[in-house]
Amino acid sequence: MFNEIANNLNLWFRGLKQPPYELEVRVTNRCNLNCLFCGNRLYADKSSEIDDLIFKRVIREACEMGVKYFHFCGGGEPLIRKSLVNSLIAIAKNYNRYVKLITNGTLLDEKTIKNLVKINLDELTISIDGPTAKVHDYLRGTKGSFNRICQSVNRINYYKKVYGKNKPKLIIALVLTNKNFDKIDTMIKFAHYKGFSEVCIQPMIIVTPEANLLKLSQVQQEEFKKMLPNLERLARKYKIKCNIQDFYNVQIIEKSSQKDELIKKENKNFPFCFYPWFYCGVFADGTTAPCPDAPSGFFENIQTKTLKEIWYGEKFKKFRKRIFKGQLFTWCKNCCGNKFFENQEIKKILSSNF
Ligand code: SF4
Ligand code: SF4
Repeated sequence: MFNEIANNLNLWFRGLKQPPYELEVRVTNRCNLNCLFCGNRLYADKSSEIDDLIFKRVIREACEMGVKYFHFCGGGEPLIRKSLVNSLIAIAKNYNRYVKLITNGTLLDEKTIKNLVKINLDELTISIDGPTAKVHDYLRGTKGSFNRICQSVNRINYYKKVYGKNKPKLIIALVLTNKNFDKIDTMIKFAHYKGFSEVCIQPMIIVTPEANLLKLSQVQQEEFKKMLPNLERLARKYKIKCNIQDFYNVQIIEKSSQKDELIKKENKNFPFCFYPWFYCGVFADGTTAPCPDAPSGFFENIQTKTLKEIWYGEKFKKFRKRIFKGQLFTWCKNCCGNKFFENQEIKKILSSNF
């Protein structure tokens, strides 16, 4: 994936415009959980959600434009609009595109699971914040959520066997807090025994008062750093891909909500961010953005323009120009950890290949 993105970027920077590589679709901001560190659920508003037909039109248009990778996630919990998400995934899969669904895992009923396995969903990322109900349910603010996830994962594995499929690849997304940093070893074993192939650890962004109480102290950050070599060994032993190396620099935890400082340090010869050249987000209210963290309403709305008009239009162009000038946006301080790691990965490929 990153090699293809780097190739596209190389073409862009030589003046050959490219379509988005990735389309992220957030169908809703509503959610059935109450995670302590989540800011999204605070903005949930059903009345502003755009119609199913518009989302379907966008997915078709994106496929025709050449988008390769579709990513259905929150906002809130995408399976709140379950039948819509099923249809959108089916459209993208009909065009033979790579599709990833990110979910909190609690609304995966048997019918949905059967359908997702049958239509060859490529990746399913489930947010799990601890290897036990006690830790996970506390952080996710909802009793019973861990057990519901375990039941769903068992069903997914069952139907993969029944239909003879090796998809969807199962991934755990874990938000790192002071309640789970010392349980990553058990998490790796849990992932192995439950048929996951990857654990993706995400530094927590502080957007709620509760999140402040979940931050790792300096001492805990150092303790976590000491655990990393053992965690790397364990991940190798259990054949679980895990981004443990990203945490040797503890600043990624300490400065998780001051990423602008890290971004400035890291960037010399390249734009500080590559997202606007390969990523387009379409959000629940129809707004679009070339950055996953841009505030809603900053760019044009998909209800009144085509994806093509927006992607090659003036507002996205201006955004890219500003990045070339090295001027960060106020929201870059809360750039999600994954985006930060992905930008670094792309930069490495660009520096060594082009
Ligand atoms: S599951 Fe996701 S959207 Fe829902 S409350 Fe938790 S973090 Fe927020
Ligand atoms: S928040 Fe800033 S650094 Fe992060 S993806 Fe958006 S523009 Fe790029």
